[in-house]
Amino acid sequence: MATTIFSEMSALAVQYDAINLGQGFPDTPGPREVVDAAVAAMHRGLNQYPPAIGVPALREAICAHQKRFYGLELDPASQVVVCAGASEALSSALVALVGPGDEVIALEPFYDLYQATSVLVGASLVPVRISAPDYRLDPELLRAAVTERTKVILLNSPHNPTGAVLSRAELEAVAAVAIEHDLIVITDEVYEHLLFDDEVHIPISTLPGMAERTIAVSSAGKTFSVTGWKIGWATGPAELVEKVLGVKQWFSFASGTPLQHAVAVGLELPEERFALMGRELQAKRDLLTDGLRDLGMEVYHSKASYFVTADIAPLGETDSLEFCRSLPARVGVAAVPNQVFHASPVGVETQVRFACCKRDEVLSDALLRLRKL
Ligand code: PMP
Ligand code: GLN
Repeated sequence: MATTIFSEMSALAVQYDAINLGQGFPDTPGPREVVDAAVAAMHRGLNQYPPAIGVPALREAICAHQKRFYGLELDPASQVVVCAGASEALSSALVALVGPGDEVIALEPFYDLYQATSVLVGASLVPVRISAPDYRLDPELLRAAVTERTKVILLNSPHNPTGAVLSRAELEAVAAVAIEHDLIVITDEVYEHLLFDDEVHIPISTLPGMAERTIAVSSAGKTFSVTGWKIGWATGPAELVEKVLGVKQWFSFASGTPLQHAVAVGLELPEERFALMGRELQAKRDLLTDGLRDLGMEVYHSKASYFVTADIAPLGETDSLEFCRSLPARVGVAAVPNQVFHASPVGVETQVRFACCKRDEVLSDALLRLRKL
């Protein structure tokens, strides 16, 4: 299988000592309470295998979080499974629910794991394009993508790489299609707390008729700036969660006992702390957006996530893949070409994703370096 773009671009960043605005990871530590809780858990000796389904404290905290923010009632004993990051939750869900010849509908651009895992299980990913500058979902395109082989609609909102946030009307359109065709929805919500301006995250499980057919996936990585911890989870109806656990137990079995305890502490932080994460990142989105525009790029409005998408065509560039492969050596900055998130690059040949989740001085330095283009 091909190497993920994140490994490729991060290796170039290391090789050329470039500022890495490619792979999305912050350069500041997460909340003090969360980091301290991990250290404390290690010193308390919580260092052995946890149950495959996850430590009780974290499962309870995940359910309490879903209730506090979205009003969703979940049973910690049967409706949540802790995984090695959202990645393992997504892969386990796909392996559990999709087989050879099946089709998985996903918003395009799509996070690269969706296609790679679909291919691993012998299924195919059927893209439904959302396009710049607004990245709205056209319900007719979604309807047209459904065939008798469709098993799953794989949503991602807030969306990587575009920063789109699905509106209630868009989610209702997805729900109508899922119910009409009796499809399962897997929804990747890892950026649920990284929202800008007045954007609101609506889990599709809160819509009528959806809780019983939705697996929601999230992760501590983005919310608490601990992407290397790889603590994620899947929630949903007991019979679907049981299937995810059935697969996940043969992948990692379990991971990160002390980190699971620490994430439980994080999920119980006051609401204001979650809101602050979005506000802090929003200022960085603005800094990067304004800076890239000053350089002559066309920059699309990002409503959420770690990312901003820019079009480099105004700079005379014609291929974002070539651009990103040469950028670390040319100016000492790494970025990711959006075309790798597409089944077909047509129309997005010159789009580049830049991560804004860095200290202000690092973003400013990157913008200064990009002036040499
Ligand atoms: N889904 C999306 C949309 C992502 O951007 C990422 C990367 N952080 C993941 C899933 C994987 O998350 P994790 O690192 O928790 O496995
Ligand atoms: N989710 C991160 C991104 O989109 C990368 C995660 C990874 O390296 N697999 O940049």
